[in-house]
Amino acid sequence: MSNDVNKESALFPTYARYPVAMVKGEGSWLWDDQGNKYLDFMCGLAVTNLGHAPKPVRDALTKQLGELWHVSNLFHIPQQEEAARLLTAHSCADAVFFCNSGAEANEAAIKLARRYHSQVLGSGRHEIITFDNSFHGRTLATLTATGQDKVKEGFAPLPEGFRYVPFNDGAALEAAIGERTAAVMIEMVQAEGGVHEADPAFMHLLRKLCEQHGLLLIIDEVQTGMGRTGKLFAHEHYGLEPDIFTVAKGLGSGFPVGAMLAKAKLREAFGPGSHGSTFGGTPLAATAVLATARTIIGDDVPAKAAEAGAYLSAQLRERLAGNPLVKTIRGKGLLIGIECTQPVGDWVTAARERGLLVVTAGPNVIRLLPNLLITRAEIDQAVATLCGVLAEQAQTAATQA
Ligand SMILES: *Cc1c(COP(=O)(O)O)cnc(C)c1O
Repeated sequence: MSNDVNKESALFPTYARYPVAMVKGEGSWLWDDQGNKYLDFMCGLAVTNLGHAPKPVRDALTKQLGELWHVSNLFHIPQQEEAARLLTAHSCADAVFFCNSGAEANEAAIKLARRYHSQVLGSGRHEIITFDNSFHGRTLATLTATGQDKVKEGFAPLPEGFRYVPFNDGAALEAAIGERTAAVMIEMVQAEGGVHEADPAFMHLLRKLCEQHGLLLIIDEVQTGMGRTGKLFAHEHYGLEPDIFTVAKGLGSGFPVGAMLAKAKLREAFGPGSHGSTFGGTPLAATAVLATARTIIGDDVPAKAAEAGAYLSAQLRERLAGNPLVKTIRGKGLLIGIECTQPVGDWVTAARERGLLVVTAGPNVIRLLPNLLITRAEIDQAVATLCGVLAEQAQTAATQA
């Protein structure tokens, strides 16, 4: 596929697309329309957590395709009930709302927090504290919640009621809580924002402050959820429970679906007519969730991700130790960032041209998001390719200096 096609595209140019068109995916591998093969360490941005076309999900969806695709949420949808039961049985949540994306899940969380305060508590509080460098989505409310100016440019007026605090800064958080504060919304690992982990001491202070001030804790697990960090949900690493959390990316193995999960006390805030989605949790979407979640839970995929992540991080640390372009390697499970001393965009391109797909997280960070069933041999191959690219870049930089 050539660049000319992009120039004539009838699509909005919202993405600076790579000049590559993929036509087939299987496990850890993708093939483009020229027959080139790629080792996929980006997974559609943490979506295909079980690899491409995983058999249990493919089989379940194929069967469901022959039975029923869509029915309104005005009907009982057994697959949706069952998917919700599975997710609540394996998390701290008691109730689930299905939607179609991460932004929609976060939008639902924001609405639920506001409505709980207004309809259930009658507190009159509506403000939500979020964090600098966060990413919560592209709808008006979720881009406002996002702590990055670049996603807001040109979209004013933005909804009111959001306030931003530096990530991992307990004193700033405490100072920002006021009489209008209703909730705090946070990622356990800021993924788009550069792969920055929430500090455990900070998270425990945050949980404590939420108790003290009657605030809801909303955790955005859109990227970190479904085993990505080595636990089913990343907040499990911290031994604390959110009041609300959201998932989407890895939830349906690539079938577009999101979910907002919450504690029982929040159930009554979302009564009939309060919120909805035509496509949320249709038989097809719920089948994708059910098959994905059953596989991830039944095969203890989070433990496999933890093990593979430890191996990948160790290999990277060892092989990149002397590379002057590499500042730090960080992350949790199979959400790993390599922070470099300069912009990494061209290096990501160089890796792709050698058959390895990785992605950036901010200008200077290379982000690795392989599927959670990635093998050691595949990790070795990816590490060899990436370290080769970075070694060459370091050499080029040295000759230029
Ligand atoms: C990707 C992402 C979103 C937005 O999800 P969409 O499905 O693109 O709407 C929200 N929060 C986090 C943490 C994400 O990584």
